[in-house]
Amino acid sequence: MDQTQVNSINSLSEKYRDYTVSNLSRMVRIRSMSCQEEPVMVELKQMMQEAGIGDVKTDGLGNLIGKIGYGKKILAFDGHMDTVDTGQVSNWDFDPFSGKVENGYLLGRGSVDQKGGLASMVTAARILTETGVPENLTIYFTTTVMEEDCDGLCWKYIIEEDRIKPDAVVITEPTNLTISRGQRGRMEILVEFSGISSHGSAPERGKNAIYMASEASLTIRDLNQRLPQHDFLGKGSIAVTEVKSDSPALCAIADYASLYIDRRLTVGETKESAVAGLQSAINDTDARITIPYYEGKAYTGNRYGMEKFYPTWIMPEDHKVIKDGLAVFAALFNRKPVVGKWLFSTNGISIQGMYGIPVIGFGPGEEAMAHAPNEKVPVDHLVKASAFYAAYALGFSEKT
Ligand SMILES: [Zn+2]
Repeated sequence: MDQTQVNSINSLSEKYRDYTVSNLSRMVRIRSMSCQEEPVMVELKQMMQEAGIGDVKTDGLGNLIGKIGYGKKILAFDGHMDTVDTGQVSNWDFDPFSGKVENGYLLGRGSVDQKGGLASMVTAARILTETGVPENLTIYFTTTVMEEDCDGLCWKYIIEEDRIKPDAVVITEPTNLTISRGQRGRMEILVEFSGISSHGSAPERGKNAIYMASEASLTIRDLNQRLPQHDFLGKGSIAVTEVKSDSPALCAIADYASLYIDRRLTVGETKESAVAGLQSAINDTDARITIPYYEGKAYTGNRYGMEKFYPTWIMPEDHKVIKDGLAVFAALFNRKPVVGKWLFSTNGISIQGMYGIPVIGFGPGEEAMAHAPNEKVPVDHLVKASAFYAAYALGFSEKT
């Protein structure tokens, strides 16, 4: 990438500032919770076509995928089009679906998480179709579904059903314009205990499953202190998030109890190691440990699912996809970027964690705004992100 290209991308991203803003407003005005993305997909499809993407298709899960270029190297820009609900509207100082601009911010649910990333992707596509896609490159713009319900599921579908396997993916979730190179993984775990019921007046004749679950939950609390730590991604964690029990009557000893567990995984922790660690902490061979299965019904009517295991991923700082990002950022903005990680989970858990495809994260807006009231994204971030994505494609196409 030479200085002329850098200047041209910077000036086009600036020229398309209002265009980017208006596309984002169009999306923010449409509610699009998980499995209900069709109306926003229709709008996005139109935007992608307006941006000059000739090949725009929807797959069986409802992911909308635009494609430009015919080269052998495959790069994808990914952003999810579903958002969470508003929560209590009384906690908002403005209408969550206005999509208005005020004091340099575009306001509304999804502006940060993560329709802002989508709007910047669309502008990047427009810049690239205008300036020309490098000959050796095919670029996909994947705008994906159901991420808030089950992160990574959409990409399981893209890789296994659509048979698209890029050489690298740029995830456009919010990073406050820093470069993200990893996140902790997570899994959900159900632990079930079977007891024996007896009359509540004679508990000694029974075996109380609630006591079994209670003792186990205290050992889980202690286990949390002993979980491994990683310098960059932080510590693994475990927490009981729900307790359930059942008994023949309220005057009977419970013969069933279960614990629902939220487990965050750091570098080096696997599904097997997490289950084994839990098993030995509980020290009850009769306890049944399972990982629940997510199955959702897409707006297309198709059902699709996966185990609720979302592996950790981390990209080495000297990997080409990260180094390309550092170089592109420095060329565009004349300073070194901050390199960090996401606290929340992203589609990286399947793209990188399950399928080993290199991932770099870069997006407009602050992660802390995600799922919070008064969500808003700086318009400047949208402009800079669109420049970054267009330039990243050029940087990626070069051999280093
Ligand atoms: Zn998100």
